[in-house]
Amino acid sequence: MSDRLGEFALIERLLSHFPPTTVAIGPGDDAAMIQPAAPIVVTTDSLVEGRHFRSASFAPEDIGWKALAVNLSDIAAMGAEPRWFLWSLTLPAEWELAWLEGVAGGLAACAKRYAVELVGGNIAGGTQELTLSVTAIGELTSGAAWRRDGARAGDAIGVLGRLGWAAAGHIVLERDRQGGHGPLRDRGEAPFLDELRRAQRRPIPRCDAPALFGGASLRPNAAIDVSDGFLQDLGHILRASDVGADLELSALRSDDALSQFARASAIDPWELIVAGGEDYALIITTDQPREVEGVRWVGRCVPEADRFSISLDGAAYRLPEVRGFRHV
Ligand SMILES: [Mg+2]
Repeated sequence: MSDRLGEFALIERLLSHFPPTTVAIGPGDDAAMIQPAAPIVVTTDSLVEGRHFRSASFAPEDIGWKALAVNLSDIAAMGAEPRWFLWSLTLPAEWELAWLEGVAGGLAACAKRYAVELVGGNIAGGTQELTLSVTAIGELTSGAAWRRDGARAGDAIGVLGRLGWAAAGHIVLERDRQGGHGPLRDRGEAPFLDELRRAQRRPIPRCDAPALFGGASLRPNAAIDVSDGFLQDLGHILRASDVGADLELSALRSDDALSQFARASAIDPWELIVAGGEDYALIITTDQPREVEGVRWVGRCVPEADRFSISLDGAAYRLPEVRGFRHV
């Protein structure tokens, strides 16, 4: 812990960014006490400096936002509503209060946006790398959880949300850092570049999914959020459910910041769409593939577990060297 500010004073400073909680016992006691009205789902995830983000490319507010958003995405991918979270921080010898307060501000902004409350946390010093860990808790208010192993042969496969944007944003941020945009040299501030940077820095968890699908009477049999890449994360569902898939990718084509970036920088957008991670879109399978705003239907589950057939505009799609998105 820095000698500039004691642990308790630091905790107080960081807590001042968050409004008082409505839970029975909030931060400040030995443990929090919550009274869920429904079964709860719990998840945790860490962001490590240098591995999941570079301070040079991310404002502290972005880091705080992302640390919470990725956890809320996992809650949404179970079909639950996020309610509460805990935040733990490990600090290297050198840290700055203003930077930490920026992180707290980003966490608080994300918490406010998705109506979740900070109910506790921890600060530890003396580590090599700065790590932010968030544990999120959600309530399953709308029936059974959406599991990875629930897909059935015949289910339609749908995607809610954007794909490839965060991976494109990662490329843009790396080029920013290295000081060059190649063919985009004179267009470093093109508006679509900023949209892509934002997709990487401030992912949007699909916390609206339970209400959106519930309102359309669409019940997912399986779901997962896209953290590692569309094909890789869909593969988790297929393996867990012991089914295969026939995909037609053309429904994922769109004219937006990603396609503008791909055209302007001579990159194949499909590699970003099928293999780019960190978009936190949701993949679902369902036997009720209704029209739902924002959902694109891209194929069906088939009974042959070893079948994974992918076409684009009716022709067999040759996979690029598909890999999960590499961090930093
Ligand atoms: Mg996940």
